[in-house]
Amino acid sequence: MAKRDYYEVLGVGKSATDKELKKAYRKLAIKYHPDKNPNDKGAESKFKEAAEAYEVLSNPDKRARYDQYGHAGLEGGGFGGGFGAGGMNMDDIFSQFGDIFGSAFGGGGFGGSRGGRRRSRGSNLRVRVKLTLEDIANGVEKKIKVRRLIIADGVTYKTCSNCNGSGQSVQIVNTPLGRMQTSSTCSVCRGLGKIIDHRPSGSDANGMINKEDTVSIKIPAGVEDGMQLSVSGKGNYAPLDGIAGDLIVLIEEIPHENLKRDGKNLHYDLYISFSDAVLGCNPEIQTISSKVKISLDKGIQSGKILRLRGKGLPSVNSYGTGDLLVHVNVWTPQNIDKKQRAFFEGCKDEDSFKPDPDKINKSFFDKVKEMFQ
Ligand SMILES: [Zn+2]
Repeated sequence: MAKRDYYEVLGVGKSATDKELKKAYRKLAIKYHPDKNPNDKGAESKFKEAAEAYEVLSNPDKRARYDQYGHAGLEGGGFGGGFGAGGMNMDDIFSQFGDIFGSAFGGGGFGGSRGGRRRSRGSNLRVRVKLTLEDIANGVEKKIKVRRLIIADGVTYKTCSNCNGSGQSVQIVNTPLGRMQTSSTCSVCRGLGKIIDHRPSGSDANGMINKEDTVSIKIPAGVEDGMQLSVSGKGNYAPLDGIAGDLIVLIEEIPHENLKRDGKNLHYDLYISFSDAVLGCNPEIQTISSKVKISLDKGIQSGKILRLRGKGLPSVNSYGTGDLLVHVNVWTPQNIDKKQRAFFEGCKDEDSFKPDPDKINKSFFDKVKEMFQ
């Protein structure tokens, strides 16, 4: 069957405004609405044809393509396939109604509640996952035990006799546009169209049981304490052919023994002896994944911060890896013997032992600045 011109379908001119399109579509939608024309296939196809025409012409981009290339311009354009095959489905059409008819039908009761059988949705489950910094640095797959509602074995359903399986109960109401048949969700089956026929003992009123399940969760590298990940479909199941809820995973970070986290960066407090500070040394630093030897020049001062680039954590939201900042702390000996005491007393007035901060190329302020770069 050749497709009719969309402007012709809606009965408007090529230069019709949005307002004119909406008005024309509304008129046709009311005239051919399935509630007004039950079991009338002709009306239904006219109804769909109008919805499709409106859907294209009310979208500036689609309308421009249609104006230039006709129906061919919409084929293969991402949505052409679905249309070519059999037009819009009724759910799409009714969901579109909310925008167009909302005001006329008192808040979209007409569009919103129509649309056939409902699918129930299971509730979300929440779990906490404790992660070490090592887990966070590399990303990790965790197997988590959760108790979730699932449909019990042996549950059977039967068609709801109140709504005959449609999930909707129908009423006649007066609207500004005349007497209309409207429908609302069936109160017996809550819109599902089916009710439980038989359920095994131990299951709840919905035929569900609580069962322990192991869920495998892939946690990306760089997550932070307090973040939530949502694993879709791993929450509680829903009765019938409903949609399972999500599993919400709350990230909890186990503090590291030696490393402190600050976003992508890590901080490490290094303590060196007084002699090492004077003579220079090569201490080993424990990073998140390995040990690295660093070289400290002789005469290094307490408070110096060394930056090991790329030895921090990856970021979950952006590119790049943080740094490891090594804070140098010189350990001043607290209990010294006679010999040592004599040595230090002898050094007291030596020029080399007198503080001279100007000699250090970086002031404390510069160091702080470096830290926040
Ligand atoms: Zn029902």
